[in-house]
Amino acid sequence: MERMQDMTQNKNPSTPVIEAVGLHKSYGTLEVLKGLDLSLERGEVVALIGPSGSGKSTFIRCLNMMEIPTGGTIRFRQKAVSERFHDKGEELGIGTLRRHVGMVFQHFNLFPHKTVLQNVTEGPTVVCKRPKREAEELAMDLLAQVGLAEKHATYPNHLSGGQKQRVAIARALAMEPEVLLLDEVTSALDPELVGEVLAVIRGLADKGMTMAIVTHEMAFAADVASRVLFLDKGVIAETGTAEEVILNPQNPRLQGFVARFK
Ligand code: ADP
Ligand code: MG
Repeated sequence: MERMQDMTQNKNPSTPVIEAVGLHKSYGTLEVLKGLDLSLERGEVVALIGPSGSGKSTFIRCLNMMEIPTGGTIRFRQKAVSERFHDKGEELGIGTLRRHVGMVFQHFNLFPHKTVLQNVTEGPTVVCKRPKREAEELAMDLLAQVGLAEKHATYPNHLSGGQKQRVAIARALAMEPEVLLLDEVTSALDPELVGEVLAVIRGLADKGMTMAIVTHEMAFAADVASRVLFLDKGVIAETGTAEEVILNPQNPRLQGFVARFK
């Protein structure tokens, strides 16, 4: 336990962008998160792995307060986030947190009646009130970044799963997030489409995007993440470098888990 806490501490005193402190989440009598701590520094990429039902989705949904924690604190830019929507005094509101912490899901959730370009400009124009022209320029840059500029006028149902997911990533990036949360973004894809999405995420990591990535792609997690967290039954059961957690696991449940994905 002591060792685990040591390893979750920052090794150097650089400032965290987002933190979870003693995070708890229960649904009725079901306690899903049992006191989790995480501190993400700017440019850091962490991977969250763990069995189905261990609380991975709940955890990252609590990080941007899409789910309201039942205990503990989320801190963003070193300020506590309250349950209020707007900032008040020293406390940030949920609105500010969500505005700067983007999220991409397993099921892309694109607007089916909007084109690729309109999907990507929706957030900046509606939420951020950016001028349409400016939002479109940004969107086209992002679509080029994910390799889909030529699909800008296409509707989502004409795209492959991998292309839809790349649009979803561009849409999240259009909000110019400081942190990006990715929840099993390749789990719904045909195996041959996984690589193109992982390549986009790899590119974001190389550009210094701060990310928390829930994934079952062990090789990818080992490659992209500076730190890997193993969630089991609502606690962080092991944390360390990819080498420690994925390549040389100590915890017996983790050994079993990792072996299944080899
Ligand atoms: P994972 O992403 O690791 O598979 P989840 O965070 O989705 O795990 O779920 C963890 C546990 O919380 C599961 O037992 C799940 O059934 C339960 N759970 C998740 N969301 C809800 C909800 N909205 N209401 C009730 N139980 C939930
Ligand atoms: Mg999940």
